[in-house]
Amino acid sequence: MKTTHRTVLVINSGSSSLKYQLVDPDSSASIASGLVERIGEPISALEHRYGEETVTREEPIADHTQALRMVLSICEEVGPNFADYNVVAAGHRVVQGGEHFDGPALIDDATRNLIEELSPLAPLHNPAHLKGIDVARELLPDVPHVAVFDTAFFQSLPAEACTYALDQEVAKKYAVRRYGAHGTSHQYVSSLVSETLGRVDLKQIVLHLGNGASASAVVDGQAVDTSMGLTPLEGLVMGTRCGDIDPAAVFHLYRVGGMSIDEIDTLFNKASGLKGLTGDNDMRVVRSLADNGNEDARLALDVVLHRLVKYVGSYTAVMGGIDVLTFTAGIGENDSDLRRELCERLQYLGVKLDLEKNAVRSKQPRVISTPDSKVLVMVVPTNEELAIARQALSLL
Ligand code: ADP
Repeated sequence: MKTTHRTVLVINSGSSSLKYQLVDPDSSASIASGLVERIGEPISALEHRYGEETVTREEPIADHTQALRMVLSICEEVGPNFADYNVVAAGHRVVQGGEHFDGPALIDDATRNLIEELSPLAPLHNPAHLKGIDVARELLPDVPHVAVFDTAFFQSLPAEACTYALDQEVAKKYAVRRYGAHGTSHQYVSSLVSETLGRVDLKQIVLHLGNGASASAVVDGQAVDTSMGLTPLEGLVMGTRCGDIDPAAVFHLYRVGGMSIDEIDTLFNKASGLKGLTGDNDMRVVRSLADNGNEDARLALDVVLHRLVKYVGSYTAVMGGIDVLTFTAGIGENDSDLRRELCERLQYLGVKLDLEKNAVRSKQPRVISTPDSKVLVMVVPTNEELAIARQALSLL
């Protein structure tokens, strides 16, 4: 099927993976998508979806250049043919834009180098994004490349929300402040809420609950607070990350536990959260364990809920009220039990959930509160690829 519209190739490059999607930002259609995994390992895997067709390959793929070449040649073989689809830009997801970027940026050499300079703030992400950016600029030289930053939406945070109470000389020297993350999703979801309701003058809380989880407070379309900080470790309880913790736990584990800084980093980022509390990072597994009487799993859910109650309460206080509470991402969109359990704990705010609407599964933005609820509760599926494609297009 040919499109009369323009399309954007969205690229999310990880250290050993390359995720892509060809998106029509005007119709919101995803034309093709795929993932190359285990790049550089003895056997790499590619999965490409176009229309009804899914193509999989398992073979060694040495580096990101070979990975993107393979994606482009599969597109030639099974479609989509880029010439038919009027690919006007490539949009690259970049986790850390520091204080330099409060919106999408055309990638020229200067932008590329800034992304590299910001690597110390996102050592796992920015260097991996650059691998994708460099090969895509080389192999697709005829389209503009645009970087879309996870941190950009949170550049509007007021100073009191993004400043840590540290010696400011040290903080400034090492760029230690709150940058937030998941901004592309929070911006997309909060603006879809505004669009759906036909109002911008709203006090919103968005809960992005996936493997990574974050909350944001948005007033009249501007982010005023968010739960992720210097890195995506701060804030809510996540799949494998602990979220908020007394920083002195680091000193304690180092001095008393004899753990190295790298071991503590791995503990907090990879072996904590749901995984640390139950042994599994998948909310569906944790839920089913809890339903079968597993006490660790029940405690994990209660810790998750307690943290969410605290964030919703504190953001309501920061905003001086709340009009809309929105759930998004894997857990937020699908876990009706978690939504119900949280909303039960928010009755003091006048939150009333419509249990039937809450139980409906849908891909559409929807209201799940009762007409007399003082706070509108919504589920809005996020779509970071579409958001990246639209932001990329906005620069052309
Ligand atoms: P990420 O993009 O951060 O990797 P996702 O947004 O895909 O994560 O969310 C993954 C999480 O969503 C997992 O914890 C998974 O268990 C949870 N999830 C997906 N479907 C459901 C469901 N039907 N019920 C509960 N949790 C779900």
